[in-house]
Amino acid sequence: AAEAAVVTFDADRFKALNEQNGRAGGDALLRSVAAALRAALRPGDASARIGADEFAAILRLPAAESPHAVALRLQERLHGPAWAPSTPMPTISLGACPLALADGDVEAALAHAEVALYEAKAAQDGGLRVFEPEMAARVERSIRDGMQNDRFFLVYQPLVDRRSSATDGFEALMRLTDGDGGQISPAEFIPVAEEMGVIVELGDWAIRTAAEAAVGWPDPLHVSVNLSVRQFDDERLAETVAATLSDAGLPAERFELEVTESLLISNPDHVERQLDALKKLGVSIAMDDFGTGYSSLAYLWRFGFDRLKLDRSFVQAMSVDPHRARDVIAAIVALGHRLEMAVTAEGIETEAEAEALAELGCDILQGYRYGAPLSDRELREVMAWTEDGNADRRERPWPDRAAG
Ligand code: C2E
Ligand code: MG
Ligand code: MG
Repeated sequence: AAEAAVVTFDADRFKALNEQNGRAGGDALLRSVAAALRAALRPGDASARIGADEFAAILRLPAAESPHAVALRLQERLHGPAWAPSTPMPTISLGACPLALADGDVEAALAHAEVALYEAKAAQDGGLRVFEPEMAARVERSIRDGMQNDRFFLVYQPLVDRRSSATDGFEALMRLTDGDGGQISPAEFIPVAEEMGVIVELGDWAIRTAAEAAVGWPDPLHVSVNLSVRQFDDERLAETVAATLSDAGLPAERFELEVTESLLISNPDHVERQLDALKKLGVSIAMDDFGTGYSSLAYLWRFGFDRLKLDRSFVQAMSVDPHRARDVIAAIVALGHRLEMAVTAEGIETEAEAEALAELGCDILQGYRYGAPLSDRELREVMAWTEDGNADRRERPWPDRAAG
């Protein structure tokens, strides 16, 4: 097969532009990016919009051209057209990965391209990066170093009940600080940790740390922990969870695990057994990021999840294509409720989004509008829980915090 590269890109400061220019402006920008992308493609190339403002393409690599040159040509074409009268086009950061660097695996190449995009964005030069194994190696070193020197920690983001406005629980999110005090995003280090084979160890650590934190929270509050697909390779997953909860003294009813759709594709029978064992313990299982991947109704039906978490891109889509986004969200909420799942909306940043999603019937609301993730210590200060774990102040409003 001919050589090809996967590229992924998004407009810098899209969110700000969207706010300055209104939804119609944001729409116009996306349309012109999509049109420029289509115009730049050559026969045999393919493209897709993979997030509210994120695009990806597979570009054929002519023998004489480097991946960098091909990606750069695309990026220049994207910067080309004006998208609104007298409004300059925002810069577009781009990450690329030759398929060959991922052994021809498109999914893996896209993950690598995202690592490269992350580096391009961090450099803030509107530039482009082609994935190099050193990029993953850098992350790998940070992971090993972080495991040796306790540089991993968890932060907790509030999950708020739509009806009572009370906090229902918290989602635990992993953080890794590097040696220079900077932070590496889990979106970047989790895939690398999976490849390195240390995700089970890290994941067990997260389960234990989250359970130990939650046991200090007022009673009905639960903690929700994200699980990687790879953790299901570990036959003892349910046993580990059971032992950890009992060591920590946390009732299983106050513990939840979040899994993604990709889990169900890999090995449904084996996964179903493990999920059943987990459910028997009394922990709840949430389907995370629903609606972006396969969104298989058969799997939803078969596994009986306790909760459906609507992917953030639907919330983002409300500011781009409000009518269609609402219709789709309403349909997913109805489906969730019919299958006896509570529905959570995540990534809620504005009051308008909060109102719309509450109106659409989402049961639990999550996002910077309600609170950014906080460390357990910050959480205790903000919540001002009393020594005996009195939950009287659960409705204490969250301080406004900028995106974390
Ligand atoms: P997720 O489970 O879907 O987590 C939600 C992500 O959205 C978090 O990003 C959170 O910080 C972010 N977020 C929350 N509110 C808002 C908002 O209002 N606006 C925006 N733009 N973002 C918001 P984070 O912490 O970077 O985590 C990214 C992903 O990394 C998670 O997505 C999850 O898939 C994975 N992850 C995080 N912690 C763990 C972990 O302990 N284990 C595993 N296996 N994966 C984890
Ligand atoms: Mg999650
Ligand atoms: Mg999610």
